[in-house]
Amino acid sequence: MELERFVARLLAKDPDQRPASAGEVWDILKEINDWHFGDAPPIRGPNVATEVLVTRAEATDGAIIPLRFTTHRACPVCATREDPDAARTCTTCQGTGQVIHEQITHKVCLPAGLRDGQKVRVRELGGPGKHGGAPGDLYVTVEIAD
Ligand SMILES: [Zn+2]
Repeated sequence: MELERFVARLLAKDPDQRPASAGEVWDILKEINDWHFGDAPPIRGPNVATEVLVTRAEATDGAIIPLRFTTHRACPVCATREDPDAARTCTTCQGTGQVIHEQITHKVCLPAGLRDGQKVRVRELGGPGKHGGAPGDLYVTVEIAD
């Protein structure tokens, strides 16, 4: 657990591995204490909502559909740039400051009997919340194509 890891850090052979000051030791101990005994309740991971377009038959009968997600992260080239103007002509991120981090396709199962505009919780997402909180959920708002 954290306390064991923390003690190992205090006793580290390499001085660079140890906390730099008594203040840092206090901060770490306080964080560990708050984590286990503090007032902060577990925080759930963030929910994600998106929209899906389904046919009337899929809405009536239910369907398994692929949902593609793209996550971004800060452009590594722009992150180290001194000149903010140069970011606009960055060829790595096309001036957006972000690059694609990951593309994930979830297969989601839509239940039968969906109405147009209905919001459905389709699955639990992988990322856990803080302090032992549950992962967030993936919701889709159904749009029925005519
Ligand atoms: Zn960039």
